[in-house]
Amino acid sequence: MSTPVTGSGTITAERTTPLVELRKLTKVFPVRGGVLQRQVGEVRAVDGVDLEIRRGEALGLVGESGCGKTTLGRMLVRLLEPTSGTILFDEDDVTHAGPRDLRQFRQDVQIIFQDPSTSLDPRAQVGHAISEGLRIHGIGDRAERRERVGDMLELVGLKRAHAERYPHEFSGGQRQRVGIARALILRPRLVVADEPVSALDVSVQAQVLNLLKDLQTELDLTLLFIAHNLAVVEHVSDRVAVMYLGRVVELTDRDTLYRHPTHPYTQALLSAIPMPDPRNRRKRVLLQGEIPSPMDPPSGCRFHPRCPIAEEGLCDVEDPPLMDVPRDVDHEAACLLRAGPRAR
Ligand code: SF4
Repeated sequence: MSTPVTGSGTITAERTTPLVELRKLTKVFPVRGGVLQRQVGEVRAVDGVDLEIRRGEALGLVGESGCGKTTLGRMLVRLLEPTSGTILFDEDDVTHAGPRDLRQFRQDVQIIFQDPSTSLDPRAQVGHAISEGLRIHGIGDRAERRERVGDMLELVGLKRAHAERYPHEFSGGQRQRVGIARALILRPRLVVADEPVSALDVSVQAQVLNLLKDLQTELDLTLLFIAHNLAVVEHVSDRVAVMYLGRVVELTDRDTLYRHPTHPYTQALLSAIPMPDPRNRRKRVLLQGEIPSPMDPPSGCRFHPRCPIAEEGLCDVEDPPLMDVPRDVDHEAACLLRAGPRAR
């Protein structure tokens, strides 16, 4: 991988170490059935993912529903316990840290949920919800907390007076702004945004995306932006990771991914995005069949039953890891034919 360089061309030591390192991160859910609810199988929702999130970057994480992206995000913020693997945050191993060790981590890492209304108490004024983190961490007195909540409401494009209102008095877009304010009130270093605009009308999605991008720059945040749609991620991300059946299958910077997608799955996802200018329309890549069950993933490359260029005797046998894409810098793909030593 190449070393990130600042705009002036000077390598910044602080920025060269990733803020987050996931190593072989795995989450297995048992599947139970029958009258006695015995375990009849297991789902490997996230299967040995290695991924770094660099300081100050916005990393998009994209894939169809059920690919494991939300599970990965929830393990990262420690809402879900990993089955195996390691989570390093700022070089500290937080994989199995207990509540006391996680106190600082809980300030540094926050999550924005898809639908903020489900996580807002309908009987509590939003000012109370936003200041919850400050109260839990014993930050400021009542007046100072009220001041910080007011500042944060203005930062996300709402009014200070909105602190006195209840969740039902806001539109969907405004409620998501409240969700963002609540995530940012502790001034975290990393924010995981889990499908933050998919519950919103198309007309307000762009406003919330612009807000997230502006806040990321203004507050020097590191952002993991999870979405099922590559069109949404393009606007916000510096780099993009594409997931399929619990694995990352392509990882590179945004421009390379959108101009030269390499993995056939990424190409299919991109070809489904409608282009406003018909001259720029990409050739539609139609995938065969449905996404296979993560309870019984295919042999070899997991994508081979749907891949338009799969080779019998190779793709159904060998399981490709992420490998360097020839002639590209900082570009990896899990494809036997397009990356690694046998790339054509
Ligand atoms: Fe397709 Fe084979 Fe590449 Fe998998 S390894 S993406 S099946 S060409």
